[in-house]
Amino acid sequence: MIEELKSLVKEYSPDADFALLEKAYNFASSAHYCQVRASGEPYITHCYNTAKILTELKLDVPTLCGALLHDVLEDTLVVSEELREEFGPEITALVEGVTKINSYRFRDHITAQAENWRKMLLAVVKDTRVIIIKLADRLHNMRTIKFLPPDKQKEISMETLTLYTPFAHRLGIYKWKSELEDLIFEVLQPAKYYEIKSKWEARTENNLKNLEAVKKQIEEKLAPLNIAFRVSSRPKNLYGIYKKMQRQEKPFSAIQDLFGMRIITDTEEHCYAILSIIQSEFKMLENSFTDYIVVPKANMYQSLHTTLVSDKGVIVEIQIRTEDMHRRAEYGIAAHWRYKESFEKNCQKNTKQTNMENHLEFIKHILESQKDVNDSDEFLTAIKTECNFDQIYISTPKGDAIKLPEGATALDFAYAVHSDIGDRCMGVKVNGKMVQLDYKLKSGQICEVLVRNNIRPTEHWLSIVITAQARSRIRKYLREHTKK
Ligand code: MN
Repeated sequence: MIEELKSLVKEYSPDADFALLEKAYNFASSAHYCQVRASGEPYITHCYNTAKILTELKLDVPTLCGALLHDVLEDTLVVSEELREEFGPEITALVEGVTKINSYRFRDHITAQAENWRKMLLAVVKDTRVIIIKLADRLHNMRTIKFLPPDKQKEISMETLTLYTPFAHRLGIYKWKSELEDLIFEVLQPAKYYEIKSKWEARTENNLKNLEAVKKQIEEKLAPLNIAFRVSSRPKNLYGIYKKMQRQEKPFSAIQDLFGMRIITDTEEHCYAILSIIQSEFKMLENSFTDYIVVPKANMYQSLHTTLVSDKGVIVEIQIRTEDMHRRAEYGIAAHWRYKESFEKNCQKNTKQTNMENHLEFIKHILESQKDVNDSDEFLTAIKTECNFDQIYISTPKGDAIKLPEGATALDFAYAVHSDIGDRCMGVKVNGKMVQLDYKLKSGQICEVLVRNNIRPTEHWLSIVITAQARSRIRKYLREHTKK
């Protein structure tokens, strides 16, 4: 497996630190020694596959090491110190980040709550690579979900749908998003999934020959042009078809554009050359041409779209694009990530921090340009929260996220949960440990308030809290209960 991983990385980064990659692999392999997956496979297959998925995004070796090691803190005896000694602070921080996400138990599937959860995640996770590792981890878990008991399958699928597919969507990693959706669809609505699947397959079988003929025809026409190109069929996204049927209130038989073909070439100029050949050789569906190269979609998607009708009357959607555009269509913002290692080698100074800042800047820039994406505002706010250090997010043991201003104390938290709880607050446990009431909380901590009925607010408490809510509540109590 490690050799396969190395050769995948070699394709995009021949000078990568392969020794480090191998070290992480061996470390994970021995840490998870004897552990098996529900499928019966050795646990390391999961670590390997998580890293392998990430090579699609051409991520750097530290990220891949983070992926290989992502479960060692949670599932083995390995501790952070050991990891730091062996792999340094960057990789350790990535593994700790993933471990932290896992510690937030998400129980409530109400959308508002999910949005809070995502915001908290962004506030906690300083490094976007942590979320990407988590997405890859989840994708592999979903690919192997059939080995789990049905209840567990449903629970994980539901969680993936509410929490993780929105991240994939908003980061623009559409390839992962649509695969996740289909895997979830199969678990949560098996009857509908199989119905659409079988209809899709039946229609594909009927039309595949036609599609093949169209493909051949296009290739023949293009051959004399001496233009480098490749043709690929568009992969199916059954969940997408299902949503379309619902949206348009149409049965499967009325859904037209199920068959698509992508023509991927080297330059923009060639995109248009290919388009004109197709337009002159085939019967085109009226008004079907859209130029997303000149006018890209809000998420920076570019392609030429047109629809042809074959001799046999099959409607085929055609997308013409360059390799760059194709990569962006599949991996969104993530397609732009420079391979960091080689970049750093060219820099004298340690630019790691600057790189990450640039990277965040870039994500913000992209998201801000997504003007017409309905829910991008929400996400943008969340991204901004990440860079806004004025507020922190604290989790209750149940997984509710509570927003507090920076500098808030344990007692502020108790009042934020409920004023009655604040009034009777005996102590607060932060990540399982008792702390003083004036303890300053940090984003991402899990806090549990211990109450006792004979506890009452005191004058002293006013000097402990910083939130207006807690302060006014304590004052109110003192006013009402101080004997004059
Ligand atoms: Mn995992």
